[in-house]
Parts: sequence; C-alpha cells; structure tokens
Amino acid sequence: MNPSDKPPVAIIGTGLAGLACADGLGQKFDVSLFDKSRGLSGRLSTRRAQAHTFDHGAQYFRAESAAFQQWLKPFEAAGHVRDWQPRHVTIAADGSKTTRPDGAAKKVFVPGMSAIGKVLVAGRPQWNLYLDCGIDAVEGQAGAWMLRAGENSFGPFEHLVFAIPPEQGLALLPVETHFTPALAKTRMLGCHTLMLGYAAHEAPQLDWACAHFEDDVLGFAAVNTSKPGRGEGFSLVLQTRHDWSQRHMEDDIDSVSATMKARFQALTGASTQASGYDRMHRWRYVSAQVFAATPEQPYLLDTQLGLCAIGDWCLGSKVEDAFVSGMSLATRLGGLG
Ligand SMILES: Cc1cc2nc3c(=O)[nH]c(=O)nc-3n(C[C@H](O)[C@H](O)[C@H](O)COP(=O)(O)OP(=O)(O)OC[C@H]3O[C@@H](n4cnc5c(N)ncnc54)[C@H](O)[C@@H]3O)c2cc1C
Repeated sequence: MNPSDKPPVAIIGTGLAGLACADGLGQKFDVSLFDKSRGLSGRLSTRRAQAHTFDHGAQYFRAESAAFQQWLKPFEAAGHVRDWQPRHVTIAADGSKTTRPDGAAKKVFVPGMSAIGKVLVAGRPQWNLYLDCGIDAVEGQAGAWMLRAGENSFGPFEHLVFAIPPEQGLALLPVETHFTPALAKTRMLGCHTLMLGYAAHEAPQLDWACAHFEDDVLGFAAVNTSKPGRGEGFSLVLQTRHDWSQRHMEDDIDSVSATMKARFQALTGASTQASGYDRMHRWRYVSAQVFAATPEQPYLLDTQLGLCAIGDWCLGSKVEDAFVSGMSLATRLGGLG
C-alpha cells in the first residue's frame, strides 16, 4: 500500500479537521484518508433535491485566525468561498423580532458547505482516499497500526489520526493512550435539522435570512436560498436547541418534525407547507460542551504510540476550531520526523 519511503499516515474522518490535517502534512507523508460516508466534509454537509439546496450541518463560518484566513485565500480567489451578510434577527417567545448586530464577517463554501472537500481532494491526487469505508477496528502496535473496515484491512501506518467525534474515537482506540481520559470526558450534544423546500407559490415572506429563537424547542433557522450560489428553490433550514434534542434523540422523527413546524408557525406566523422537500436529519454529534484540548495544543497526541485525535471538540464547536485542530497537529507531526 505504501510504495513510497514516506511515513504512512492514516486519517479516519474527512471533516474539515481531517482534511486540514492531510493538507498540512503536505508532501512529507504518505496520506490515506478514510470516511464512512460516501461524501467528504463531514458536518459541512449539503443536500440537493431538485431546485432546492440545504446546508443541513454547519450554516456558515468565521475565519478569525491568520492561519485559517491564509489557507482560505486560494479557495476564495477561485470562488469556492464567499462572504454572506444575512439579516440576522432574534425572535422572542412572543414572536417579536430584533435585528442582531452584524458581528464578524460570515463565510460560506460555494455552491454548498460540503464543496470544500471535493475541491480540496481534486487538487491533491497524491492522497489515498477511501470513502464509504467505515473503520470498525484498529489493530497492530506502535509504528504498525492496521485498520479494519468489514472484510478489508489497510496498513501498516506509522501514525493514526482519529478525526471523528470523541465518543466514536474512544470506541476505536486499540490501547490506553495519554489522551484516553481527555476523550472520555468530552461529550457532544446533538440536534435535529428540518429541511423545507417550498414551491414558488408557497414560499413564505420572511424579512430575515437567519433567526435565533428564544424558545424551548427551536434554536435557529436560515433561509438557505439567500446564500450565494444556492440556486432558486426557496429552501429553509430549521434547527432545534441541543438540550431539547438531547431529551428527544430517540423520538419518532415524524413527531419531532410536527413539533418543530408547530413552533416555527407559532413564532413567525409563516407556513411550513413545503411540497418541494420536507425531510429531517438527526445529528447525534453536533457541539461539544467540554473541550478535550487547549488553544496552546489544540489536538491530542501520544507520540510513543503514534496515535492522535483531532476535531472541533478539541477547543470549541465551530468550523474554524476543526481547521485549527487539524492543521496544528499536521505542523506538529511534520516537526517530529
Ligand atoms: C447542525 C449543525 C450546525 C452547525 N452550525 C455551525 C455553524 O453555523 N458555524 C460553525 O462554525 N460550525 C457549525 N457547526 C459545527 C461544524 O460543522 C463543525 O465544527 C465542523 O464541521 C467539525 O469538523 P470535524 O472535522 O471536527 O468533524 P466532522 O465534520 O464531524 O467529521 C468527522 C468525520 O468522521 C467520519 N467518521 C466517523 N466515524 C467514522 C469511522 N468509524 N470510520 C470512518 N469515518 C468516520 C464522519 O462520517 C465525518 O465525515 C454545525 C454543526 C452541525 C451538525
């Protein structure tokens, strides 16, 4: 599997943390990337249904660190990243609205949030990419880790990077590491995302593009159509509050959908009758409440074993946190050799 004499590295998970790590490792390593999904980009996810486009994971992101801004530049120049300035409101329990201050510039990947994975991979033919390849087990020992996915086995790898949620990483860890306690203490909360695609005559008249709700059920809504490059079909994304979803994670999806629609109608007066598309996505791992690492070292690493873990949950719960975690680990591994 590794005809080159470069150290072989396996990265499990192709969300932005895994992708940034792979990119940061550059030409010094022989990089293999694995993901259980058919697509890249993890929680930067986009669904298309005829005229409608839904970013049903991350809605937008900020780039506050110089490293992230610099990394994004070529993608911005090529039109894969665009600024987005939505009218942002808070909707109170009585339905009253207040405009929120603009805050830092919001960015989106174009034509959907998942686009970054495809663009990146297209420019990195040297990567060994295995999609639809969920890793079930890790075997072997330091310096020679093997990955098992169903009947298939991959390796040996000198370094193994878990770029997956901490709960899933903990379940795959083959041995006790320095960072096992950090993984064990980090828990992520979930949420439900409802995607509504309206036919032209049904589209509600909303005078905002992003709404934060002061509500027990709903947390956030975005008019996806208002982002650059999303196409014409009016597309609305509704998200629950994490604490509500945590209590309703195993509920029947239709009853969750009905509850979300009722709350949205009550708070905004807008219809949820959407004949173009009407689907729910349940996210088990969205947002960490306790972080596993620190801004000084935003990744987990056991140098003796060659095992590492990265993800937004190392230092926050945002896209930029995932980037910083992955890129910082790459820099560290690059300096180890
Ligand atoms: C609903 C929602 C809304 C959000 N809104 C925002 C927002 O507005 N702004 C913002 O900045 N951030 C937002 N986020 C958070 C943002 O999406 C994340 O911070 C970021 O995408 C995390 O990237 P990551 O690489 O750490 O993890 P992920 O993107 O979760 O990547 C992990 C990858 O690992 C794969 N995987 C898991 N187990 C295995 C296995 N055994 N084998 C192989 N592959 C495996 C998964 O398929 C996935 O692709 C939101 C997230 C969600 C879900």
